[in-house]
Amino acid sequence: MTETRRSAPLPPPLRSVASGPSSVTSAGVLRLHLNENSGGCSPSVLAAIRGLERESFAQYPDVAAVTAKTAACLGVPNECVLLTNGLDEGLHVVAQWARRVALDPQAPGSVIVVEPAFDMYAACAEAAGLGITRVLPEPDFAFPIEAITPRTRLIYLNDPNNPTGLGIPAGLIEQIATAASQAVVLVDEAYAEFSGRSCVLDLPHRRRNVVVGRTFAKAHGLAGLRIGALVSAPETIAAMRPTLPPFSINICAATALEAALDDRAYLEWYLGEVTASRQLIYQFARRRAVRHWPSEGNYVLMRLAGSATEVVAAMAARGVLIRDRSQLPGCDGCIRITAGLVTATERCLAELEDVLASRTN
Ligand SMILES: *Cc1c(COP(=O)(O)O)cnc(C)c1O
Repeated sequence: MTETRRSAPLPPPLRSVASGPSSVTSAGVLRLHLNENSGGCSPSVLAAIRGLERESFAQYPDVAAVTAKTAACLGVPNECVLLTNGLDEGLHVVAQWARRVALDPQAPGSVIVVEPAFDMYAACAEAAGLGITRVLPEPDFAFPIEAITPRTRLIYLNDPNNPTGLGIPAGLIEQIATAASQAVVLVDEAYAEFSGRSCVLDLPHRRRNVVVGRTFAKAHGLAGLRIGALVSAPETIAAMRPTLPPFSINICAATALEAALDDRAYLEWYLGEVTASRQLIYQFARRRAVRHWPSEGNYVLMRLAGSATEVVAAMAARGVLIRDRSQLPGCDGCIRITAGLVTATERCLAELEDVLASRTN
């Protein structure tokens, strides 16, 4: 005789979680230092995560569907896309792969990091055991193609560059990939939605040594969920895949990305806010004759006359976080301000006006 065991009823939740309106600020602090989406993610992302069944949380995630959706959005075959736990993880994957394919394991070769550069490039190269060649910026932040040598294993390009906001001129990526056919060329397109430009359609299929990095942290506002992608030729993606843990993408991130990619209207709205915010920052800089660079990202770099570090600290004391970039080569006196919601930009610029005025008095 078999006894049917009934499951015990679920215990009541310990406490109900208050779900107020999503807010990018905790305790009124405005975060304009990490190029996050100051509007939050699309509301449909939250709805999709709330709609998940409990069983989904208990199972290892299957990312086939979200990979296919990402590939379709980018306009490439599914085999060209590898989702990663944020682009940061993707950068590690690329560095490890570049190390493994080094022709001579005794002489792993070196990595070119053109300054000013995103901090993770050097960190990933170091973790992979590759030597780093830091190339100082030219006065106009142009790429010094003569830095490429036969020992070059990996080249980091960032289009548009963080922190300058400058784009890579047409044709240069192809020129670099040809000049360094023995090396991996990583094109970091973390801000492609803002620049409206991407090379995923041109280079990955034709050149196995070009890998494009994308993230859904910035324009899609999913930084807290960690999801990004590498895009390259199918052979390159297949070669890099073993470097990535099999379940790097959690179920919430996968679900969120599908919902975010479906909400084109929210993205368009946010891109409009960013464009308007950049204009406000340019106007501010022009009015005060502050050197700044036209940006294709969701941030603007400007060079202050006095100490950037002191200004950033004074802003933080007023509850507005902006980024001190003055320690980066070529960026003396520079701060970087994230351009997101217009209301956030207005508050930031009003405080900055005040801080700068009190310093010149
Ligand atoms: C933010 C950023 C990344 C990392 O994105 P995540 O997906 O959050 O890891 C990579 N590259 C650049 C240039 C960035 O600014």
